[in-house]
Amino acid sequence: MKGPFPVDKLKNIDTPFYYYDTDVLKKTLKIVKEETKKYGFVQHYAVKANANKKILELIATEGFGADCVSGNEVKAAVNAGFPASKIVFAGVGKTDAEINLALDLNIFCFNVESLPELEAINELASKKGKTAQVALRINPNVDAHTHAYITTGLSENKFGFGLSQLDTVVGVVATQKNIKLIGIHLHIGSQIEDVKTFVPLCEKVNELQTYFEGKGVKLEHINLGGGLGIDYQEPDKTPIPDFQGYFKVFKENLKLRDGQIAHFELGRSIVGQCGSLITKVTYVKEGETKKFVIVDAGMTDLIRPALYQAYHKVENISSDQKEATYDVVGPICESSDVFVKDYKLNETKRGDLIALRSAGAYGEIMASHYNCREIPKAYLSDKI
Ligand SMILES: *Cc1c(COP(=O)(O)O)cnc(C)c1O
Repeated sequence: MKGPFPVDKLKNIDTPFYYYDTDVLKKTLKIVKEETKKYGFVQHYAVKANANKKILELIATEGFGADCVSGNEVKAAVNAGFPASKIVFAGVGKTDAEINLALDLNIFCFNVESLPELEAINELASKKGKTAQVALRINPNVDAHTHAYITTGLSENKFGFGLSQLDTVVGVVATQKNIKLIGIHLHIGSQIEDVKTFVPLCEKVNELQTYFEGKGVKLEHINLGGGLGIDYQEPDKTPIPDFQGYFKVFKENLKLRDGQIAHFELGRSIVGQCGSLITKVTYVKEGETKKFVIVDAGMTDLIRPALYQAYHKVENISSDQKEATYDVVGPICESSDVFVKDYKLNETKRGDLIALRSAGAYGEIMASHYNCREIPKAYLSDKI
């Protein structure tokens, strides 16, 4: 038996389901709070990583802000107790309805990604007699050295303004009466494991600061996005990511001006390690060349392996028999519905419980109804 699981309790719950270890989440939040406080940094939790209401409420209770990428995320954040005054709103395709919602709630800041969006926000704010606070999302052309699908800060990506476009943008901002430019925003990618990757980001920001000063623009805040990775290989060894190292890189490399505040939007590193997807073995199938463990969770419950070739540690939490080698697969009619291949598990039989670890981020929230399947339920460890 492995991992920190109350197997006797979990056995009685219909599978598949997400199981969140509240203790791990609370410890994580405590450390993030301490580290950000140390440097006067501000953290907005990236809601897209996990918008489970109870998780959002726990994070809101600790005083963090929220980073949202849709109108419904803004609503979810407010419903969970995040004050609108601590909400930032990013995304390349904000609709008029979403912008109006955010204006009505008086959110802290729109992270603006294009000129037509800037003009739309100005026009909608003007109709309401309001001034919208905005930060320009800048694409710094910094390589995050991560999977292509989660790299966002290269010129070829759809996000933000390119460096060569800034002169034009600053010119347009000056003509928009219902816009107040208060900051810049940069997010280079996700699952970044080496914190040194953020050094070139800091250097780029330092250059940008000089540029904006030259233009007479005063930036109140610098938003550095999220992206800190987690240890998918050994979740029990590293249940809490290296937040000390992460924030220190920014403290040491960013040249913040007097009164300027650094904002962060961590998502995965906050919620990733607290969650597991718990699934039951439906069959153990002997193939011609392989043994397949067929579980009752599939890519509809956890799509990361199929979408990003992502690895989640798999454990048989109800067997302590000697190990054998299996492919662990779901029931969905897609060849990509595979969690791991040629993988050593304690000898597994029909009815065993399997845990897919480090599934707290981009897991439950990405679940779908494909194959007319149910969306998995979720339980917190202190409520079962
Ligand atoms: C996804 C995203 C984040 C969070 O990224 P993590 O890797 O989960 O920390 C932060 N900011 C923006 C703009 C994002 O799109």
